[in-house]
Amino acid sequence: MSQASAVPGPRIFCVANQKGGVGKTTTTVNLAAGLALIGQRVLVVDLDPQGNATMGSGIDKRALPLSVYDVLLEQAGIAEARQPSPKGGYMVLGANRDLAGAEVELVPLERREKRLKAAIAAVAADHDFVLIDCPPSLSLLTLNGLCAAHGVVVPMQCEYFALEGLSDLVNTIKQVHANLNPELQIIGLLRVMFDPRITLQQQVSEQLKAHFGEKVFDTVIPRNVRLAEAPSYGEPGVTFDPASKGAQAFVEFAKEMVQRLGRTP
Ligand code: ADP
Ligand code: MG
Repeated sequence: MSQASAVPGPRIFCVANQKGGVGKTTTTVNLAAGLALIGQRVLVVDLDPQGNATMGSGIDKRALPLSVYDVLLEQAGIAEARQPSPKGGYMVLGANRDLAGAEVELVPLERREKRLKAAIAAVAADHDFVLIDCPPSLSLLTLNGLCAAHGVVVPMQCEYFALEGLSDLVNTIKQVHANLNPELQIIGLLRVMFDPRITLQQQVSEQLKAHFGEKVFDTVIPRNVRLAEAPSYGEPGVTFDPASKGAQAFVEFAKEMVQRLGRTP
């Protein structure tokens, strides 16, 4: 695949945090929709057997002709398996419960942690960004995401144990960087579900900045009910209610991301 050097490939990011319910999927689909709004060609890869990014993009996970499972087992390519999010403005490689089986089926196979990387390389020319929604674990699925990615975006709530939980993820990223993927780095920490009225959240937010400096994104995603309602309508908050504070924050975040990477929208 030496043609890859001729084409400036997509920026590939994992949205990861080993805790569940911290806003990974919300970040993935809304960042995707925000990037699409500013003209970027985006692919979302759902790496979570729960299929929330798939459903939240308006695609029925129970009716996927092909999914990321088929791609990891090399039964299909991404070009055949991806489909457009009807309202999101981006493409989706969907997931459902089949993917839980892949975890076991991959173990005896060769290049088991590099499968996603190879599959994305084959569609590199089609996308400016690939966003990988990781499951809440440091499993072989997440490892496939980390091996495929240039960087990790870590959504986090500014709560008391937030920093403590981060160290496992940071250590895993260091190990993958050292042994499997020298390109991998933490792109940034994204403060999500933020409520400025809560003093503790402000304090943790300050601690985060003191500790991680410019690795903390400037944009803060507020707690906003429209972001939570959007998935049941099968679209990201960014398109569901563009005027909402949550949607506006994610569009700002998309712009910040593009600026940080030196690509003007
Ligand atoms: P994860 O993918 O890490 O498990 P989700 O993105 O699914 O987390 O978010 C967990 C829950 O919190 C979901 O019900 C989601 O709708 C809600 N949620 C996420 N971000 C926000 C936000 N900024 N404001 C309000 N609710 C949010
Ligand atoms: Mg999720």
